[in-house]
Amino acid sequence: MKKETKLVRTQAKRTSFQEHSTPLYFTSSFVFNDSDQMAALFNEEEEGYIYSRYSNPNVDEFVRKMADLENAENGWATASGMAAIFTTFAAFLQQGDHIVSSRSVFGSTHRLFTEIFPKWGITTTYVPFDDVKSWEKAITPNTRIIYLETPTNPGLDIIDLKAAGELAKKTNTLLVVDNCFATPVNQRPLDFGAHLSIHSATKFIDGQGRGMGGVILGSNELIAKIQAFARHSGPALSPFNAWNFSKSLETLSLRIEKHNANALEIANRLEAHSKTEHVKYPFLASHPHYEIAKSQMMGGGGLVSFEIKGGLAAGKKFLDSLQLLSLTANLGDTRSIAIHPASTTHSKLTEEDRLKVGITPGLIRISVGLEHVDDIWEDIERALG
Ligand SMILES: *Cc1c(COP(=O)(O)O)cnc(C)c1O
Repeated sequence: MKKETKLVRTQAKRTSFQEHSTPLYFTSSFVFNDSDQMAALFNEEEEGYIYSRYSNPNVDEFVRKMADLENAENGWATASGMAAIFTTFAAFLQQGDHIVSSRSVFGSTHRLFTEIFPKWGITTTYVPFDDVKSWEKAITPNTRIIYLETPTNPGLDIIDLKAAGELAKKTNTLLVVDNCFATPVNQRPLDFGAHLSIHSATKFIDGQGRGMGGVILGSNELIAKIQAFARHSGPALSPFNAWNFSKSLETLSLRIEKHNANALEIANRLEAHSKTEHVKYPFLASHPHYEIAKSQMMGGGGLVSFEIKGGLAAGKKFLDSLQLLSLTANLGDTRSIAIHPASTTHSKLTEEDRLKVGITPGLIRISVGLEHVDDIWEDIERALG
């Protein structure tokens, strides 16, 4: 079956009620027939459900769909995207290990690298997103993981996945990719040599701004190691959220097609507008990594960033003039969202540090939603003044 069909038709086994749509298995534990079955399940001689921190039918259905979509053998779902990221590092790293990471990572991932992992003697070296070949110099005998996000946040730069995959192979390290911005409809890192792909399901996967969740996708062997850590440390995804996400996946391909089309149209219109400069969208021919984007992504995604003329003050005025677009911390929602990183998410950094991660004073990031593109544009155009 094609991926679109699997997203709709992959389903937990029907109960005796013959429900059409998968019910919610909102239960913390499952009942055993007798002591023999209980022993067999605990000793992993028989497959079945024991306790929802270990596994649950709704969570399994969600994971199966995500793994099939991303050409992964298996997966593990977590309570948030950050739980997926933390669990991955915690499952594979030991004291003294080293991470090589692209500098442009999600804010909380940056905090893990700089404030939390050093407590356990795990160190990180940041490398430039635009020169994967130079990363080899940062690799030491203790490097276990190469980590990257592409497209990057909020700059929407593109990192060469094929080059990163080759480097991981050559240096015998694990390549872990945060694939949240692209979604598996637009990009499948495992096809380029990544070992694990991570998503915050909170974003495009849910797609409607409701629940928090995350998922890690990879080979049976690697997921078994994640499972061995996660079962006992407890970052489990709620069955309710898994049920919601699995429903959301039924429309994922359709939604992403529309996010891609709306975002490309908005990017084109922004590029033609006199009040903007440097519009960044992976599928705009003017993007500095357009060729790489075209070679590894099937669509440009739902995020567009641009520099508004007039810097910080103009950026704040733009946000305050919006009427339709939401000012909110999420992305990947049906509703279009705008943020101005310099005055909000990254306001605590010095201007110099902001520039290091590509956050210029007038940078605006838009998560283009599923409203009619003319309505989204009307709001943006008015706010540009
Ligand atoms: C949101 C996000 C995360 C963290 O996910 P949560 O579900 O908020 O924990 C990680 N990486 C990227 C790129 C994100 O956008």
